[in-house]
Amino acid sequence: MTKVPDQIASRETSIKRGLDFIYRVAGTTDGFDSYGTLLICCFALVGATSRDASLRQLARSRAQRLAQRWARAHRLVPADASPDLVLDFVLVRYALSRIGLRDVELNAQIRTAAKRFSAQDALGFNPVSEPPENDLSYRCDCGLKNQRGRTYCKKCRKRLETQSRYRVWMRALASTYVSGRCGILFGARYADVLKWLPVMRRYPAGTDEDEEVVRDAIFAVTHIVYTLNDYNTYRLSPRWLPQEFAYLKANVEAACVNHDPELLGELLDSLRAFGLPAGHPLIDRGTSYLLASQNEDGSWGDPDEENIRARCHTTWTAIDGLRTYAWRGERLSRPALESMLKHGPNRIMLTRNRHSL
Ligand SMILES: [Zn+2]
Repeated sequence: MTKVPDQIASRETSIKRGLDFIYRVAGTTDGFDSYGTLLICCFALVGATSRDASLRQLARSRAQRLAQRWARAHRLVPADASPDLVLDFVLVRYALSRIGLRDVELNAQIRTAAKRFSAQDALGFNPVSEPPENDLSYRCDCGLKNQRGRTYCKKCRKRLETQSRYRVWMRALASTYVSGRCGILFGARYADVLKWLPVMRRYPAGTDEDEEVVRDAIFAVTHIVYTLNDYNTYRLSPRWLPQEFAYLKANVEAACVNHDPELLGELLDSLRAFGLPAGHPLIDRGTSYLLASQNEDGSWGDPDEENIRARCHTTWTAIDGLRTYAWRGERLSRPALESMLKHGPNRIMLTRNRHSL
C-alpha cells in the first residue's frame, strides 16, 4: 500500500521538472518569441488553480517575470496590429487577471484595436450566422493566411492544409471566451460560438475516421470544459454535458496506447473537472502513463520534435493532467449558460441572443 504516497511524491517532482523545462524554453529568444504569450498563460493558470501552495507560488512568480518581459516588448497596441497580435495581448491580460493583476487602460486599448476586426477576420467564420466548416486552411509556410475554401496559396501557389471544423471551433471557443473575460469582443461573443454545440455533436470516433479529426474533436470538447469552467476553476456537472463526458472517457485508453501525452493530459484534467476521482481506473491509467513517459529533460512528447510550440504544449497539458486543483465548487464560468445546457440543444439555439459577450 505504499504506492499511493510514492505516486504523490513522484507526481510533484514530475510536475516541477515539467515546469522547469517550459521555463527554460521561455528563457530562449526563439521560444519566447514564438510561444511566449501561451507560456505566460500556462504559468498564470498553474499559479491560479493549483491546490499545492508551493506550486502556485513558483508558477505565479514565473508568470509575472515572463509577463514583464513581454510588456517591455509590447508597451502599446500598434495601430495596425493583426488579429493574432491583438489576441496575444488578450492572452497576457487574461493570464495576469488570473493572478490578480489588472490594467484597465490597456484593456481599453485592446478593446478598441479588436473592434477593427470582423468575426471572419478574428475567427475565420461568423458564428452569429454559421457553424464552423471544414474550409479554412492553416497559415501557409510563406506567412499568408488564405481565404476560406482555397486549397492553394494565393501568393506562393503551395498546396494548403485544411483545418477541421473542430479545430476552427476550438480556437474560436478559447479566443472569444478569454476575450470576453477581459471585457473585449474579439470577432464574436462566446455564447454565439458555443451555441453550435448541437451541430457539432456526434463527435467522430473509431478507426474509420481520420485520426487528426478525432484529435481535433477531443480538443474541441476539452475546450468546452475549459471555457465553461474558467480553465479549471470550477467543477462541472456531467449532467450538463453528458455526451462530452462520455466522449472524453471513451478516449483515454486510446491516448495511452497511441502514446499521445498531449491529448491524454487534456483528457485527464477535463475528466477530473467532471468529478472523476483520483482512484478511478481511467485517471489511474492516465496518471501512470504520464509519470512513466516523461523525458529526461522534464518534457513530454517526442524529444526530437523540432516544433518548440508542440513540445511546450504537450508538456503543459501533461502537467495539467497530473496536478491537483483547488476547485471552487460546481458551477459554470457564466451561470447564465446553465439554462442553455440544462434544457437541451434546442434551447441553446433559442436563447442565443440573450447573453452578452
Ligand atoms: Zn504561401
